[in-house]
Amino acid sequence: MAKIIDFLNNSKETLFSFEVLPPLKGQSIQDLFNHIEPLMEFNPSFIDVTYHREEYVYKSRGGDLLEKQVVRKRPGTVGICAALMNRFKVETVPHIICGGFKKEETENALIDLNFLGIENLMALRGDAIKSEGVFRPDSMGHHYASELVEQITNMNHGVYLDQDLQQGVHTNFCIGVAGYPEKHFEAPNLSSDLKWLKHKVDQGADYIVTQMFFNNQKFFEFVDLCRANGIHVPIIPGLKPITSQKQLSVLPSIFHVDIPDELSSAVEECKSLEEVKKIGVQWCIQQSKDLKDSGVPCLHYYSMGKSDSIYKVAKELF
Ligand code: FAD
Repeated sequence: MAKIIDFLNNSKETLFSFEVLPPLKGQSIQDLFNHIEPLMEFNPSFIDVTYHREEYVYKSRGGDLLEKQVVRKRPGTVGICAALMNRFKVETVPHIICGGFKKEETENALIDLNFLGIENLMALRGDAIKSEGVFRPDSMGHHYASELVEQITNMNHGVYLDQDLQQGVHTNFCIGVAGYPEKHFEAPNLSSDLKWLKHKVDQGADYIVTQMFFNNQKFFEFVDLCRANGIHVPIIPGLKPITSQKQLSVLPSIFHVDIPDELSSAVEECKSLEEVKKIGVQWCIQQSKDLKDSGVPCLHYYSMGKSDSIYKVAKELF
């Protein structure tokens, strides 16, 4: 199996990759296949599959009674990775998170991935459970992505949680982590965030994928700051074409990113969804071209379950 870091280091061209979400519980994987199929024309180097933690929902039980239930609306990340590898012969990158996992459950999940031949991972902390507002780790779990990276690196060295376990198999995971050109929303400032990003790399992360951004200048400044702060692994820009007017408020509120005035004004003036998508694609093509010209190792697109705009962008670039 190939490692993402080898693709990044060995390619002379800018690579193409994208991220998909598992289908909602109860929906068929066929819709996901249909969405990915057209994008295979551009020979993606890898496909990321996101992980979605549990949520609390309150079900009416008659009268004023509400029952709190724990549900996972999009299960299946690892199964989807295996299915995509099998069907499209492409490397997949499951996202694994700290939230909701005890360290031992993480270890067992990593063993499953190793048995499946999945050797690429994105190691993330995860966000708070929607109704909680603040991230709370499991009492036996990790607080930060860097601790998860450390656990994976340990397994790569044959070190498991049970210290009596001698001569454990050395796994061979390549580890991606998240970076935030506009700073992680909880970090007091960018330099603190960069300090912790460096810590993730020092613990063994091989490469960084950024949060989406709509102004390339922010990415270029972020890369310069990373290099100045001793972070020398490849940094992959994450991009998303805007596809609806609603996203002008939804994306900043969920992902804590700025949308430049020129882009938001153009989207606001659109009279139809088709016009919005056209603007979103044009903006994303321009961003992608500039980034490609600057020599980024890979362009990574957030599909959020829809591939038509990404198809149009990729057609211009790859
Ligand atoms: P961390 O690196 O742990 O950082 C979290 C915060 O803590 C930052 O503010 C950081 O500065 C600070 N920090 C880090 N270490 C320390 C320390 N030791 N002491 C004090 N402060 C510290 N979420 C999902 O649930 N599923 C996904 O599939 C998913 N995919 C993503 C993919 C990408 C490319 C990106 C950019 C994000 C993704 N997320 C996903 C969202 C991510 O889980 C959230 O942004 C989360 O809030 C932070 O995750 P992290 O891995 O960056 O955390």
